[in-house]
Amino acid sequence: MTSTAELIELSERRSAHNYHPLPVVIREAQGAWVVDVEGRRYLDCLSGYSSLNFGHGNAKIIEAAREQLDRLTLTSRAFFHDRFAAFAAGLADLTGKDMVLPMNTGAEAVETAIKVARKWGYQVKGVARDQANIVVMEDNFHGRTTTIVSFSTDPDARDDYGPYTPGFRIVKYGSAEAVREAVDADTVAVMVEPIQGEAGVLVPPDGYLRQIREICTENNVLMIADEIQSGLGRTGETFACEHEGVVPDVYVLGKALGGGVVPVSAIAADQDVLGVIRPGQHGSTFGGNPLACAVACAVIEILRTGEYQARARELGGVLHERLRGLVGRSGVVAVRGRGLWAGIDIDPSIATGREVSEALMARGVLAKDTHGSTIRLAPPIVVSEEDLLWAVDQLAEAVGEL
Ligand code: PLP
Repeated sequence: MTSTAELIELSERRSAHNYHPLPVVIREAQGAWVVDVEGRRYLDCLSGYSSLNFGHGNAKIIEAAREQLDRLTLTSRAFFHDRFAAFAAGLADLTGKDMVLPMNTGAEAVETAIKVARKWGYQVKGVARDQANIVVMEDNFHGRTTTIVSFSTDPDARDDYGPYTPGFRIVKYGSAEAVREAVDADTVAVMVEPIQGEAGVLVPPDGYLRQIREICTENNVLMIADEIQSGLGRTGETFACEHEGVVPDVYVLGKALGGGVVPVSAIAADQDVLGVIRPGQHGSTFGGNPLACAVACAVIEILRTGEYQARARELGGVLHERLRGLVGRSGVVAVRGRGLWAGIDIDPSIATGREVSEALMARGVLAKDTHGSTIRLAPPIVVSEEDLLWAVDQLAEAVGEL
């Protein structure tokens, strides 16, 4: 069984329909390009939701994984292993924090941040037990666990998964004033995506993150930046918070930290925050495993050079200039984004995001809608300028034809 139709039919029959994939079955990939089982090539403009920032088959990352696979893959945290120290120190240095706590998926890292913030609230800030609240944003996307969907405002993500976890205050994204009003003596954290990816690559107003930083500092509240999608080079800086010169108390990282090879996530914070977690109080069998650490160390090495951040900045400038030229033409209503990351709103009377994605696929570009008629473009940072501009042309032409 090798044809696209057969493989899709079996996949759909034997797996839950929690995704609605484009009808393409990918077999291999290199750099920014993937090849399907029929031998057709497509430019990857999704990058595994920004997990493949450094490209498919990145030689340094694959080499690190191969070398580690041959030697040691899992110990559990019951023992130390010889890759852990370099990973922990490397990521702590990259974030400028004292220490890290590794997990696997993004949602687990977000859960970790929530647990650490609550424990910090009770043990350090002195909030009365079970009274802690965390301020979060409308249209957030932080993952799929029951606690995280409890404070989602997306009915698809949330409905019928109750009863919900209490302790969250949801305020309008982009309004620092709303954050200020929501914070009280029992607030232990404000958690924010520096750019809301799943909501449509929403870039908040200038100064928003800086104001949140000030509110948190003034009120002895932890600022948690969920940089799972925005971090690690995508926006042209290592962390999207850097665009406002902001340093959060807690970084939440995932996706590209695993180099597109294995799931690796972590939170990074200083000793006064992460020190509240004692043995037995939190963990994960696979968190910080040798393979994950080897891959993440390669990613950290890559980021240390600054090469990918510079490339995302440079190509991002080219991308956004070209996209801005489409606004008001070709059915493009608005474009947003930063670095090699863009949300493009298509006039909903012309086509749904799904229809645009399918039309793009027919033209050899793989991109996915976020919400409604918004298309996200987030190619691997290794993409060539020529390919990138070709993809934008395909978008303009595809929408023009719908
Ligand atoms: N946080 C943000 C900002 C994300 O974009 C995502 C995934 O899209 C997550 C958390 C959840 O990560 P994961 O799917 O690895 O659990």
